[in-house]
Formats: sequence, structure tokens, C-alpha cells
Amino acid sequence: DKAGTSKPSKQRVVAKGTNVPSACSSFEDMQDKYHFPSQLMANLESSGYLSPTGIQENGIPILLQSRDLAAISPTGTGKTLAYLLPTFAQLGSPIAHQKDGESSKGSGVRAVVLAPTNELAHQIHNECLKLAQGRKWRMVLFSKATASTLADKAVREKIGPDIIISTPLRLVAALQSGHLELDNVRHLILDEADRLLDSEFLEQVNEVIAACSHPELQKAVFSATLPANAEKVALGMMRDPVRIVVGLKDT
Ligand code: ADP
Ligand code: MG
Repeated sequence: DKAGTSKPSKQRVVAKGTNVPSACSSFEDMQDKYHFPSQLMANLESSGYLSPTGIQENGIPILLQSRDLAAISPTGTGKTLAYLLPTFAQLGSPIAHQKDGESSKGSGVRAVVLAPTNELAHQIHNECLKLAQGRKWRMVLFSKATASTLADKAVREKIGPDIIISTPLRLVAALQSGHLELDNVRHLILDEADRLLDSEFLEQVNEVIAACSHPELQKAVFSATLPANAEKVALGMMRDPVRIVVGLKDT
């Protein structure tokens, strides 16, 4: 990656949906409007993220307003931060820091990111570690070795991870062990959704969605491309979604 911290170039953005939340052209704008914790701003800066890309300017406010989102933006345009930033901004205190009676979104898994490959899940987990520096959230990457043992451990200790990053296969295996509950998940993100909504994964993805039973579950899908079939499936599982397309002619 010889580009280093240079920002992916901006592209045309087309948004569709009812009352589409307006874009924010800087992270400071987002902080003012949505009250980001200051640690999050510090972590953005130390990661070299000085100003948002097109998908971030548009997608982050949509997710911060708790809307469901189907986002299509080319590879390399910063989709990972577009969903992780609003997730961290809304996650609430790490359970280890909650005081008695403090209002929060409760305990247990509150965000799930699904990715089609272990390698991508690993990259997303690394991005989580950068953005969550200084906070005590438990962010768990489900791998072949960890999925079932971690779920067991969570039950024994009565404390689960705050965020899970996993392939559908690993997460379904952990669910089937009976030791993992996803009923307090508020943010479900499908990354590289064209693959996740394809026949290879769809059944497992649907199993995960069914386990995420909280009425305020927010669903978001991100992809570089989204074939008509996959888009239909994605929008069909959402409530009043917004659809944004970056850098492509909208149809
Ligand atoms: P995508 O998922 O759309 O292919 P990534 O999320 O992998 O893109 O991001 C591509 C690269 O751009 C990564 O190296 C990431 O660190 C960088 N990046 C993302 N957002 C920004 C930003 N706002 N400023 C600078 N670099 C960014
Ligand atoms: Mg990506």
C-alpha cells in the first residue's frame, strides 16, 4: 500500500430513500452534530483519517440516524470506516466501565460485522482495534479456533463480546452451540454483501439475521457492486432503507 495515508479520491454520490439524512463534509461536522466521544476523534486522527471520503460523508450520517442502509461504493473508497465509525459512536460504554444504573444499551453483543472470508474479517478486526483504542470494548474475531470456545467462555463468565467480526459459517457454528445470544444486537453489517447475499452464504446469513431479534436492529450492507438480485434481497430485509451509490451511474 504505497498510497499510505492519502485519502481515496471523491466521487459522485447518489442517494435514494425517504428523508435522506444530509451529508457531513468533515469529521468535525459529524462530531458537532452527533456528539462523538472525543477519544473517537483522537483515534481518527492517529489513524490518519483527516477528512471523510464520499461514502463516509454520506453513509455515516445515515447510519448515525439509525436508518437501514444499502451502500454501493468502489473498492478502496473507505467502506470499512463508513460503518465502523457510526457503530463505535453509538455502541455505548464498554460494559467494564458501566456504573450501576447508568443507562446504556445493555450488555452482550451489540454489533456484528459479517464478512465472506476470514482474511477480510481479520482486516476489519484490525481496523476496529485502531478505532477503539483507549476504550474497553471486547472485540472478537471469530476464527476456526475461537468461535465455539469463546462462546463457551462468554457464557461461563456471563460477559460476552461487545462486537463480533466473523464469517457467516463461524458465527452460525457458534450460534448452534447454543452458547451465544444475539438478541441485543443493534448493528448488523454485511461487508462485501454481494457475496454474502449470494446462494453460497444466504442461508447462514439469514440464520444470523433471525438470531438478531432486537426490535431496534439496524441493518446495513456495503459492497463494491450489488447485482439486482442481491439488492432485492438486501432491501427486502430492511425497514425504510436508504440506498446510496458512489461513483457509478445510478439506474
Ligand atoms: P473499501 O472497503 O471501500 O475497499 P477500505 O475500507 O478497505 O475500502 O479503505 C481503503 C483504504 O483507505 C484503507 O487503507 C483505509 O485505511 C483508507 N481510508 C479509509 N478512509 C479514509 C479516510 N477518510 N482518510 C484517509 N484514508 C482512508
Ligand atoms: Mg472493504
